[in-house]
Amino acid sequence: MTYSDGTRSVHAGLPAPVVGEPFLPGPVFAAPYHLDPATGPGEHGYARTEHPTRELLESAIGALEGAPALVFASGQAAITALLLAVLRTGDTVALPADGYFTVRAFAETTLRDLGVKLVLIPTASHPYPDLTGVRLVLLETPANPGLDVCDIRAISAAAHAAGALVAVDNTTATPLGQNPLALGADLVVASGTKALTGHSDVLLGYVAATDPELLGRVETWRKQTGAVPGAFDCWLAHRSIATLDLRLARQSQNAAAVAELLLTRPDVTGVRWPGLPSDPSYPIASTQMRRIPGVVSFDLGSAERVARFLESAELVFAATSFGGVHTTADRRAQWGDDTAPGFVRFSCGIEDTTDLIADITAALDSSR
Ligand SMILES: *Cc1c(COP(=O)(O)O)cnc(C)c1O
Repeated sequence: MTYSDGTRSVHAGLPAPVVGEPFLPGPVFAAPYHLDPATGPGEHGYARTEHPTRELLESAIGALEGAPALVFASGQAAITALLLAVLRTGDTVALPADGYFTVRAFAETTLRDLGVKLVLIPTASHPYPDLTGVRLVLLETPANPGLDVCDIRAISAAAHAAGALVAVDNTTATPLGQNPLALGADLVVASGTKALTGHSDVLLGYVAATDPELLGRVETWRKQTGAVPGAFDCWLAHRSIATLDLRLARQSQNAAAVAELLLTRPDVTGVRWPGLPSDPSYPIASTQMRRIPGVVSFDLGSAERVARFLESAELVFAATSFGGVHTTADRRAQWGDDTAPGFVRFSCGIEDTTDLIADITAALDSSR
């Protein structure tokens, strides 16, 4: 039986029912476990290597991505583990020029010092550059924060023909928004800190892959370097995944309304949302993605106007990160990101659409 997204979210990774036990067993707080003095470790010996609460979360994420998954202490822990487990001195890695900036910073320092060559490719490149000589291509689609998208299926086919592996950062879309492995990618990597868990209370990352040898390399890396999430964070994350379908549905509905509103405003420029038929991302997003995320980007012209807008809005928190149940807005240039001073990454929460639209309209009017 194949179930739809709401059912899959609720049941992802739950153990088979046991009379007298909870649906989702509580976090197991243990570093070492009792060993059999004669035979040594059984299923669980030491939590850096194996942990029951973490394994349940991994089976939940794996069920949604469609391949075995390994979780990490943050998205950056997952991405750097993937890069360092796959790349060797002399290799070339292709990264999105417009993707999550910390990944580029890592490549320009640590990877460069290790002798890994870097090429930066804008997500919306048409045609996509030749990948001959590249060992690994990391795609980020939709890219954060500009929301360009790329064709995972076409780029994966071209990369494989050139002998390159393909990894996709699925943070913004989430596994209910798109399944990169089904589209031909070799690896999926993501921050679970954002929409996947969605309550702004947990740092999490994961890597998923169909090829056991490839995922095994990442697992050995994690075991030897140790960036595992704690038991309580794993449990909180797993509990949150039950509502993923509901949260994404409301966030996407709110984003559609916010994008439509912003398009009518002469005092707002550069409105981007891949679900708008007029958006440059729409042709690929509408065929490749199963749903469009709740993130909208736009420009209010200056840092001062963004500040006035956020001071005036009651339902929009000034905060970084995105994908949470609360609506938030982040002026990216304050972090040294390569964006205009008035550029805003706006993350729609799950508030009622009419309340949100009224609040944003009033805040735009009074901040003009
Ligand atoms: C936030 C983010 C990351 C990093 O994740 P953390 O959990 O903050 O370490 C990586 N990629 C993308 C696209 C992100 O948005």
